[in-house]
Amino acid sequence: PETQSSPKAADGQEEKTEKSTEEISAAEKSLLQKVLRKGLVESTKSVEVQRRDPNSPLYSVKTFEALNLKPELLKGIYQMGFNAPSKIQETALPTLLANPPQNMIAQSQSGTGKTAAFVLAMLSRVDTSKPYPQVLCLSPTYELAVQTGEVAAKMAKFCPDIKMKFALKGETLARGTRIEEHVLIGTPGKIMDWSIKFKFFDIKKITAFVLDEADIMIATQGHQDQCIRIHKMLSPSCQMMFFSATYDTEVMEFAELIVKNATIIRLQKEEESLENIKQYYVKCGNIEEKYQAITNIYGVITIGQAIIFCQTKKTACWLSDKMTQDGHSVAILSGDLTVEDRISVLDRFREGLEKVLITTNVLARGIDVEQVTIVVNFDLPVDQNQQADYETYLHRIGRTGRFGNSGVAINLVDSTRSMQICQDIERHFKRTIYHLDAEDPDAIE
Ligand code: ADP
Repeated sequence: PETQSSPKAADGQEEKTEKSTEEISAAEKSLLQKVLRKGLVESTKSVEVQRRDPNSPLYSVKTFEALNLKPELLKGIYQMGFNAPSKIQETALPTLLANPPQNMIAQSQSGTGKTAAFVLAMLSRVDTSKPYPQVLCLSPTYELAVQTGEVAAKMAKFCPDIKMKFALKGETLARGTRIEEHVLIGTPGKIMDWSIKFKFFDIKKITAFVLDEADIMIATQGHQDQCIRIHKMLSPSCQMMFFSATYDTEVMEFAELIVKNATIIRLQKEEESLENIKQYYVKCGNIEEKYQAITNIYGVITIGQAIIFCQTKKTACWLSDKMTQDGHSVAILSGDLTVEDRISVLDRFREGLEKVLITTNVLARGIDVEQVTIVVNFDLPVDQNQQADYETYLHRIGRTGRFGNSGVAINLVDSTRSMQICQDIERHFKRTIYHLDAEDPDAIE
């Protein structure tokens, strides 16, 4: 059968077609990242306060108790397993919860606790005695809105009086409906329809407005203008909260347009490093020997969880089929899966139902897989000119922070060219890549 034959070694031509089909959007990346994430990304950096309202006190808290939350919300937070605020939360929460309300622009990398922070602020702002929308959260896509809604539902578990509604495609309301839920989470287009066109709710009564994933929002065609139009309709006293994982000038210009007199805080991205990673290479004669090497080390790599990176989709599929036929339980993530399928693959992987995930560069950039202990480069990452792609290498196997994230990387080398690339990588990062005999996988430390 077709799947049993070896794929051609990647040549330039094949690479090009591969790239275009494997490209996924920033919104999709962010989503995959959320699905894959098990917990907080710890940070060694400290929060910088870029600007603050001189009339309001800026302080930070070390405990959730210090925030004077409703007891039901506090209970929800603890049940989610949160013991103490994350770094960004320590500084953001007092401002987000302050009275009178204050505007905020906050930036920190994905996984540092932004969503949890603004969801807590959103829920705290609800007055359940008023049966209409008071809190509005804009997300760039359907799926990201659903993720936020799920966090809100968990956090509000002990606040049954707080009602939430999604304003997303597929949700339809009869003409003349008046929305009674307190919290609305949706995409800009649907929110515009529901407020401006159909008047399902009075946007002037919104007291807290969250713009999530602002960087992705402006990367999405038309969303920026819609956000600005929605913003213009809001009451001047509405609290504006603006969150982004990046902080380039375009995002900031957008932010300053929407959020006046904001306290601006930022937590710089943690650098990735190879510090705690033990790197190996395995010499193989051809792709079949690479497969053999994977089989030999399978027992060792599945002690924890492993990701195997292939340069092309074709190789990834071939490897996945072959391993499956040999009775190994593997998952495959490729760019042409539907969003739902990608989520379900990653959900299963995160839960440990599959110990090995085979993928292409879909996952290489922008996605952190901190819980993965072993990364196998079935193919070494190369750029369009077939030169060593250091950045991708670092992102595949590097780890951030110093929080005990040790790991192992195994590079399969099958030609003088790939050996050369391996040596280039070694030289570039100034860290030894040790020889590993795949017949003796126990040598892996
Ligand atoms: P971001 O929005 O910056 O990507 P999230 O709010 O989604 O970050 O948080 C990332 C992960 O960390 C989630 O799994 C979330 O449940 C968890 N988390 C958030 N805040 C805390 C906290 N204070 N303590 C423990 N885990 C937390």
